[in-house]
Amino acid sequence: MSGDDTVTVTCASCGAVADDGPPLDWSTQLSERGRGVEHVCARCSRENLRSIEARLSPEWW
Ligand SMILES: [Zn+2]
Repeated sequence: MSGDDTVTVTCASCGAVADDGPPLDWSTQLSERGRGVEHVCARCSRENLRSIEARLSPEWW
């Protein structure tokens, strides 16, 4: 055992990485492919709110 129990999470939208688990301002959402949950960083979660409203066009990025 290394004692390193940090959880690395990656933003599903922009790929930002958080080494100590998702920060409180990140959001968790169900994966569209039904493979569990994915994390979205604070900035992207705001963007996603708009994108979801607009049917999530992949071209916005
Ligand atoms: Zn992000």
